[in-house]
Amino acid sequence: MDPIIRLSGVTKTFEANGGTVSALDGIDLEIAAGEIFAVIGQSGAGKSTLVRLINGLERVTTGTVVVDGVDISTLPERRLREVRRRTGMIFQQFNLFSSRTVAGNVMYPLKVAGWSKADREKRAAELLDFVGLLDRAHAYPDQLSGGQKQRVGIARALATSPPILLADESTSALDPSTTADVLALLKRVNRELGVTVVVITHEMDVVRAIADRVAVLSAGRVVESGTAFDVFAEPSSDTGRAFVSTALHDRPSEDELARLRTAHPGRIVIADVVDGAGIGGILSGAAARGVSFELLYGGISSLQQRSFGSLTIELTGPDEGVDAVISELRTVTRTEEVAR
Ligand code: ADP
Repeated sequence: MDPIIRLSGVTKTFEANGGTVSALDGIDLEIAAGEIFAVIGQSGAGKSTLVRLINGLERVTTGTVVVDGVDISTLPERRLREVRRRTGMIFQQFNLFSSRTVAGNVMYPLKVAGWSKADREKRAAELLDFVGLLDRAHAYPDQLSGGQKQRVGIARALATSPPILLADESTSALDPSTTADVLALLKRVNRELGVTVVVITHEMDVVRAIADRVAVLSAGRVVESGTAFDVFAEPSSDTGRAFVSTALHDRPSEDELARLRTAHPGRIVIADVVDGAGIGGILSGAAARGVSFELLYGGISSLQQRSFGSLTIELTGPDEGVDAVISELRTVTRTEEVAR
């Protein structure tokens, strides 16, 4: 099946202060219809530029951008407007009209598209029901919490039934529990309505929560991409590794590790857990080598329906025995010795 979004050999440069700034430098990216695709990168990596190329607000310097079957890199401006209507967009700062009610905000794009008043009202009610805000239809944005505002943003973005929703740092202004609600809603938009969702973020937790696949952007290039599981389990770029390590709460922080080292005299290892991997069998076999173990820190949760996490383990016993257990662990999982 053709991807719903395809960027081929895309570069984008800006002329600024008499010099040339390269924002994107040779991007090849394919996003499949029906998936949740995340683009993660630090500030300045080129994420906003990428979004603006996909929704036709900027034009490529070289390369092609195909969105929903249309090559938008060469399209005249008036045709671009139709294409933009096929791409819903939500923003970090919500961008709601403060002078319009919740329902008024959702109906606005329908008004622009020429829908009748009755149809607009019916569609807005449907969408507000979907995002759980039907009872706030007549409230104004100022009367809503951040999470509610973003839910209105989502309802508005979906008003004209676009096949694609672009979410640009859509949870960066929200607290963690509200973030989880909004991400759960985006997942429903994807799974129940079949909308392809492109999430732009600087937070790996967002990727872990909802993405099917992810591309890591650094200095205008895609430095790695793959399923969210693969990138978490085995990041292959420095940028990817840095993002993953900040998102893994199952690993002890440096302070926590220092405390564990003081409290536990044995040798300590951190083992990354992917799909169970047989760590339990190795640890229960350790007794035969005179080695006992204690679980000090960590956790296992799921990522894309597979188990995933990290365990910090103290191993106590004769050195040869502990060495043998560590070697066995290393045959099934990435294991790092952090104290001996
Ligand atoms: P991100 O969204 O990941 O923070 P951006 O896409 O905003 O990254 O920016 C990527 C690079 O392109 C940065 O170096 C930025 O300064 C530059 N850039 C973006 N837009 C413009 C512009 N309109 N004019 C000049 N430079 C720009």
